[in-house]
Amino acid sequence: MTTYKQILLAFDFSDETDFLIKRASEMAFLNNAKISLVHILDNIPMPDMSYGTIIALNDETDSALLEQQKNKCNEIGKFLNVPETQRWLIWGNPKDEICALATQENIDLIIVGSHARHGLALLLGSTANGVLHHAPCDVLAVRLATK
Ligand code: AMP
Repeated sequence: MTTYKQILLAFDFSDETDFLIKRASEMAFLNNAKISLVHILDNIPMPDMSYGTIIALNDETDSALLEQQKNKCNEIGKFLNVPETQRWLIWGNPKDEICALATQENIDLIIVGSHARHGLALLLGSTANGVLHHAPCDVLAVRLATK
């Protein structure tokens, strides 16, 4: 039987993230797999790299938000025993960056949350849907309570 060896958990900061973490932990245990973590920074403007700094954010709110997201990522990483080198915070579009990272890291299973959507929300699409259609590997879309 094929098992997964490299699992990528893509998380946002919604209330349901704990449920996703539990699922990722179970999948890793059942498959004896390694976990990588990714959060895409799609709500903080990208710093201006032309000034040669890694994080030169525009104002204190952005820096505070980034710090908060880093802390959360590290918290989840410690809980799941994910080495620091496998905890990713990336600027960009969630669907594109999650799929690109999966290719780069030879991921064989991406775990994302999925909300049951209807009507306009369905037309607008979702991160889970985007990942499902562009991923280079299997995707586990964990059904979450509707927002
Ligand atoms: P959404 O469709 O945007 O409500 O999100 C569904 C799932 O996509 C979430 O439960 C996460 O697994 C993933 N996701 C959404 N936004 C991000 C993000 N910025 N970074 C990483 N994963 C995300």
